[in-house]
Amino acid sequence: MKIRTIRYILLSVISILVLYSALGFGKRSFEAYCPFGGMESIWGLFKSGEFSCALGPLNLSMLIAVLILTVIAKKSFCGWICPIGFLSELGGRLGSKIWPKRPEIGAKLNGILKLLRYPALIAALYFTYRTGELILRGYDPFYIIFSGFGHGTLGLISYIVLGLLVIGSLVIPMFFCRYLCPLGAVFDPFSRLGLIKLTRDADSCTGCGECDSACPHQLKPQRWKKIRHRDCTNCLECLEACPEKEVMDLKITI
Ligand code: SF4
Ligand code: SF4
Repeated sequence: MKIRTIRYILLSVISILVLYSALGFGKRSFEAYCPFGGMESIWGLFKSGEFSCALGPLNLSMLIAVLILTVIAKKSFCGWICPIGFLSELGGRLGSKIWPKRPEIGAKLNGILKLLRYPALIAALYFTYRTGELILRGYDPFYIIFSGFGHGTLGLISYIVLGLLVIGSLVIPMFFCRYLCPLGAVFDPFSRLGLIKLTRDADSCTGCGECDSACPHQLKPQRWKKIRHRDCTNCLECLEACPEKEVMDLKITI
């Protein structure tokens, strides 16, 4: 079975479970499983010793678990678990069918746009700390989708956010994950340490570029001997695309 098939089955099962919980069938609110809620709750715990809104200890546990996972296997949460990453990836694939020759964002602009994740993170933490409420819910696609535009969403603004996620993914692969996801910003330093990473044997590599074309995050794996890039999700698309079966490998390495 292809690695992508296994990954998509896993992502579909997780998305269905979150949806099941969002529809009220689970024991807890779907928000209880969001690791970013753990990040937001830290401030509330410092300030008042209480979790904000619907957040609880499970959010904190999820955050800690995902940070440990990131130190072990880079941003594999984003590529193997996150429903928003899944939606973005599907949008990117659809976009490449509609517009096969999409121009790529230049490396410099791409690097600058990636910095947007940090103000997004600071804003989310600051406003949660100040108000004790998750007042940025209306800007959070995970909440907007799974709550079905529930309370706290912002009408037109939330539709625009969702439109940006969908249209952005069609035009720029992984648009939300690359440029706006505050959880991605939290993961960045941990992902740089990630122990399990892909390696490329430069001596056997033919330079065919298939790995570069396959990477949903456009990380240019052909340039790396060890893929240390903080945004690598270990999705293994590049490994699967490589026609030389001995060139790329997944290893535990620093
Ligand atoms: S470099 Fe390879 S494993 Fe990392 S995100 Fe790109 S395709 Fe996935
Ligand atoms: S797909 Fe494999 S052989 Fe081709 S450039 Fe990438 S690592 Fe080298």
